[in-house]
Amino acid sequence: MLLFKELKGTQKEMGFIMPCSGEAKDTQFEEQSRKINQFLKQVNHKIVVMSGKGGVGKSTVAANLAVFLSKKGYKVGLLDVDVHGPSISGLFGLNGLKLNIIGDQIQPYLFTENLKIVSIQGLLDDPDSPLIWRGPVKIGIIRQFLSDVDWGALDFLIIDSPPGTGDEPLTVAQTVSHCQAVIVTTPQEIALADVRKSIQFCQEVHMPVLGLVENMSGFICPTCGNRHEIFKSGGGEKMAADYNISFLGSLPIDPSVVIAGDVGQSIDSLSSSHTKEEMQHIVEQLIRQLPNKQKEVDVMMKIALPSRQNHIDDHFGHCEYYTIFTVDNNKKEIVAQETIESPVGCGCKSNIAQTLSKMGVTVMLAGNMGDGAAGVLKSAGIKVVRGCSGDVKTVALNWLAGLLIDSGDSCNAHECHS
Ligand code: ADP
Repeated sequence: MLLFKELKGTQKEMGFIMPCSGEAKDTQFEEQSRKINQFLKQVNHKIVVMSGKGGVGKSTVAANLAVFLSKKGYKVGLLDVDVHGPSISGLFGLNGLKLNIIGDQIQPYLFTENLKIVSIQGLLDDPDSPLIWRGPVKIGIIRQFLSDVDWGALDFLIIDSPPGTGDEPLTVAQTVSHCQAVIVTTPQEIALADVRKSIQFCQEVHMPVLGLVENMSGFICPTCGNRHEIFKSGGGEKMAADYNISFLGSLPIDPSVVIAGDVGQSIDSLSSSHTKEEMQHIVEQLIRQLPNKQKEVDVMMKIALPSRQNHIDDHFGHCEYYTIFTVDNNKKEIVAQETIESPVGCGCKSNIAQTLSKMGVTVMLAGNMGDGAAGVLKSAGIKVVRGCSGDVKTVALNWLAGLLIDSGDSCNAHECHS
């Protein structure tokens, strides 16, 4: 078998990857297709991240989707097929990355227990040498990334494709069955014009578009707190509506994203920021778009409880705090706890549903709650269980053990609780 190690050298040498005898070519191709299909059967969701233009933050979004999903407990593989400008290794601080080959399989880089990374960068002797490869070689490499890498079973395979609609996205669309696309754009018209081409490309190759992300959407001044529309904003959302595509969300221009990217850190590592919240929101929206989402139970999930002195506050809309537990659904354990102050205003009128949804909360365990607040939470994608009481930790553990059901207890103590 030809492995990437043998692909180094001149363009002419690399051309040898394509077998020239017709019969040998067919057999090798079929064998490879069989291996690719075998691997793809073990992957729940395959997502290619595309953009019409370079420099719009496609790799940044791909890398952060992979990180945020893996932190939710999903098994994620991140594959960089941008063979001319692979930037995934850099975004993870893995510039000197070398991938091992054991037997006839390439070993992905194990970034964390849940995140495996493969980039052509990891197979090159000189990461700075330009890659000048013809179409058939690129196609061969992408196929080998799918057939000869020891990925194991994955919940998500995220593929970072080069900008445009060339050989790489076409190979992905034709090779990766049931692949879906996330399209990244910036808001200005010159970028949006190219996004139209990406959408049309997806339509032509029958690849469903999971949604659109608008990156570099406005800038929030850290000094005055005002929002400035450097490249405008809202164009991506409008385009998504025009093409009947889901809009997953937008990320602002944020200098800390550049700094984090340059030192190999994800948006998740930013201490607290609007950008991090927006990225969390994008991931939640993406999960909502997935087919079979009803059958999926998040391994790691966040549940919130209205609290006062570590007990459920019976009056949802006027509680002191929200206690938020990150729980491991497999182990039935609480793995982290955070507390946020309750915003001013009762549950159905404040922005608490949006805030919690952006933090990734998908379940609310409450005492009494008005139907208005319950409705707002549900429409933000948060399941509501009413009628809970007692110590918040015990309530959360009881819910994990499957001991709680929604009593439907409504609260009529306030005029806005209809
Ligand atoms: P692409 O893959 O589309 O070529 P990249 O993800 O490599 O784009 O991003 C290009 C540059 O823009 C990188 O330096 C990255 O850190 C920066 N960048 C991406 N998104 C943002 C953002 N929201 N705010 C500020 N800088 C960003």
